[in-house]
Amino acid sequence: MQLAVRNRKMKNSIYLDYNATTPCDKEVVEAMLPYFSDTFGNASSQHHAFGWLASDALEQSAHSLSKVLGVSSNELVFTSGATESCNAIIKGVFEAASPHKNHIITTLTEHKAVLDVCKQLEKKGAKVTYLEVDNQGIISLDALKKAITEQTALVCIMWANNETGVLQPLDSISAICKNKGVLLFSDATQALGKIKLDSFFNWVDFACFSAHKIYGPKGVGLLFSKKSAHSHWVSFIQGGGQQRKLRGGTYNIPGIVGLAKAIALNLKTQEETSQRLEKFRNQIENKLGQIEGVQVNGGLADRLPNTLNVSIAYVDGEQLLNVLGQEIAVSNGSACNSASVQPSHVLTAMGVESTLAMASLRISLGKFNTQIEVEQAVDRIKQSVANLRAKNILWTDR
Ligand code: PLP
Repeated sequence: MQLAVRNRKMKNSIYLDYNATTPCDKEVVEAMLPYFSDTFGNASSQHHAFGWLASDALEQSAHSLSKVLGVSSNELVFTSGATESCNAIIKGVFEAASPHKNHIITTLTEHKAVLDVCKQLEKKGAKVTYLEVDNQGIISLDALKKAITEQTALVCIMWANNETGVLQPLDSISAICKNKGVLLFSDATQALGKIKLDSFFNWVDFACFSAHKIYGPKGVGLLFSKKSAHSHWVSFIQGGGQQRKLRGGTYNIPGIVGLAKAIALNLKTQEETSQRLEKFRNQIENKLGQIEGVQVNGGLADRLPNTLNVSIAYVDGEQLLNVLGQEIAVSNGSACNSASVQPSHVLTAMGVESTLAMASLRISLGKFNTQIEVEQAVDRIKQSVANLRAKNILWTDR
């Protein structure tokens, strides 16, 4: 397809894939712009004004983040995104732990940025427990308690799931980990800016975030390491000694400025935005729920206000995404590899049967969505489902 055609299609599409990525806020772009070509110095150059200005921007960004998140700036490390932060924490804790502490506990529904790291560490001798979830996507607190042993180095449990929006009971999980004296890492990439932070930074020892999920730039993220947990991980990116030797490499000043601005802006309006998006999400959920054979995945659990995951019986998931993709940007959690398309590991873990898991849609709303878009999207989904079912003999002959 030609670039011009793709551009036209994009402009005419309704974007409902905010959990995949978000557009940068205009104010974020404006804040970043000077640091590309005017104030372009290296923040580590401490002998001239170019460097001083860059390090001022770095300091201000760290200060702003520390204020809005309610943590010390020494507890924050800038990374290239949540994937790097997950790698750094899990690998870093595993490497720092004494050899007998080689046990990691996680869940079957984590993002691949956690699961693939755990799989990799298994090859290096780690023992990993993958906690199951119930049909709403929630882990059992009893199973967590039982899984923790003397060997456990780290518990990794995400706050909000990227596919279903389902929230794990992090306060109770934290209480168990504290009681057992085990470190807790929570991937809060999808939660930030969508729900209240509450006591999050008291609950966890480590956390990760990503700017591009919260109307900031791609390629920059955060790692939170509580002061008391600093000595429990080692960095795997050396060179240059930046960030208290925790993550070497020249500071990405435009990215860091953008990250800090995006987080500050969006936390300020989080409650109001979430209320509006939840109303939209519920409208879509109610309307799609009226279609025969539609189930809401994780619908009974506490969820992110912007996220809806539905499975639609009697349609081919790939065909549905292809048809919808002409007009609406949504996604599903299936993973393509060269041999086949696999159903979402998240839905599979929740017990969703494979054909239904393949026929799932994740609709994730964001602050630029409008009432009209919501109504149009519902109409298009309903129409596409009806068209596909009309051609499906299993539906017509049922
Ligand atoms: N964790 C979760 C829950 C996510 O949704 C994502 C992105 O989809 C990531 C981690 C990875 O984030 P990044 O794109 O910043 O590497």
